[in-house]
Amino acid sequence: MKKIIHDLSLTELKRELETMLDKMPRYRAEQVFSWLNDYVTFDEMTNIPQDLRNLLKEHYEDQPVKIQEELISKDGTRKYLFALGDGNIVEGVLMQYKYGNTICISTQVGCRMGCAFCATGIDGLVRNLTAGEMLGEVLSVNHHIGGTKADRKITNIVLMGCGEPLDNYDNVVKFIQLISCKEGLNISQRNISLSTCGLADKIKRLADEDLGITLTISLHASNDDIRKKIMRVNQAYPLKELFFAIKYYFEKTKRRIVFEYIELDINTNPEDAVRLKELTKGISCHFNLIPLNSTPNNSNPVLKPPTKQKQAEFWQELKKQGLSATTRRTLGSDISGACGQLRRSKLKEK
Ligand code: SAH
Ligand code: SF4
Repeated sequence: MKKIIHDLSLTELKRELETMLDKMPRYRAEQVFSWLNDYVTFDEMTNIPQDLRNLLKEHYEDQPVKIQEELISKDGTRKYLFALGDGNIVEGVLMQYKYGNTICISTQVGCRMGCAFCATGIDGLVRNLTAGEMLGEVLSVNHHIGGTKADRKITNIVLMGCGEPLDNYDNVVKFIQLISCKEGLNISQRNISLSTCGLADKIKRLADEDLGITLTISLHASNDDIRKKIMRVNQAYPLKELFFAIKYYFEKTKRRIVFEYIELDINTNPEDAVRLKELTKGISCHFNLIPLNSTPNNSNPVLKPPTKQKQAEFWQELKKQGLSATTRRTLGSDISGACGQLRRSKLKEK
């Protein structure tokens, strides 16, 4: 397999080009880097001399991620199946809002966290994505919808597709640096959200990186008893440890924390609202309430959804506790909206 040129930062690319050809003008790497962010092929890099283009072609992949399929939902949400260089596939979603376009991307092929409600985790982890592959997901869609580096159509990024971003820590941090650098797509770190199932030690490490991103926690329960029934990761990092890390992140970054909370019959009782208030004391935060999307595990009794009335009462209880909460609009439910569903249905077809 050829190497992925999008894995390189501008400084690394400069060094790489210098080893390839003698007497490389200094601006050459900047030109190539700029083209890479337009997501064009080496042949389309018209101001790059042919001998360099040939060398690049010989050693590198110019488009590490290719859009294999696009599904467009009635509500305008677009779902993508991305083909990676080794034949693996991951998925992404483009959501169009009034304020801009948000892309949700994958960070791993599969996932080893095994959450009971999630389609991605069923077959475990296949491999990590490289930073350049994550960049390729964003760049390929930006290109596909008519954007360039200079005139980008994507404004926000959420790391909420297949995989656990903090289980692929170094590549994810590098991706965030690449996508936000001023010579690249220059997406503000404030417009990037990272969602994690709660790897507490990595959350602390992330706090020390000094990135401006929003941390989103897939909480889904108000105590360890309930959480360990649906999230295996709670055994390694129980809530006490998780919240210690979240508080550290909040104090360090002063960024509001977002909690994802799938509404189930077992986690939407009035006591849950009380416990959530207690858990999040001292943290500025917001709850995204998510209806459970269907998964192959739906017969599991712990995944029973609440009644409409119970759901409404839970929202009232959260308000009563002074917690900020909204129910997430389910975008693209007609096109396998939830994480991992589309990829899984494709794997089954094979
Ligand atoms: N691994 C990270 C990010 C990817 S999962 C994490 O767990 O946060 C993205 C989000 O989708 C998480 O909040 C996850 O809990 C949620 N999710 C997974 N399966 C779901 C389902 N069947 N219904 C609703 N949300 C689901
Ligand atoms: Fe992995 Fe997130 Fe799915 Fe859990 S919810 S299995 S952490 S992708």
